Amino acid sequence: MTDFRIGHGYDIHRIRPGSGLVLAGVVVSRELAAVAHSDGDVAIHAAVDAILGAMAAGDIGQHFPDSDPRWSGADSTIFLRRALELAKEAGYRPVNLDLTILAERPRLGACRSEMAARLESILGCPVNVKAGTHEGCGAIGRGEAVAAHAVVLLVKA
Ligand code: MG
Repeated sequence: MTDFRIGHGYDIHRIRPGSGLVLAGVVVSRELAAVAHSDGDVAIHAAVDAILGAMAAGDIGQHFPDSDPRWSGADSTIFLRRALELAKEAGYRPVNLDLTILAERPRLGACRSEMAARLESILGCPVNVKAGTHEGCGAIGRGEAVAAHAVVLLVKA
């Protein structure tokens, strides 16, 4: 019997005027930035939580606490590579990752394939990026925050 594990992750960060908003490891705006301890990449944070969830290994805050100065301004691909390493140490590899990013601003449609390619190069599996708005609802709809949902499937290699 094939040994599959599935995990889900969610993250949200406030955004502000700034010099770079990073999503899925790609700079998607040079006029915005996330309010965060690390680089505030919600897409990667959701993906990390999905992998950790699949491994029953807790959450991103336990592995990379925002009280730790090492992670101040950190490139979140470090967290993704570490989560992947944990899965691999346990004998698992990712089958696919499905991401939904919600942002009223910036508009992400034009960056979708670059974001998917960036994560595929790290994870070595197909990555789908869906980019939606929040239809004007709530903080995301007012352009005050961006959020992401991630679902990942792992298989025992
Ligand atoms: Mg986060």
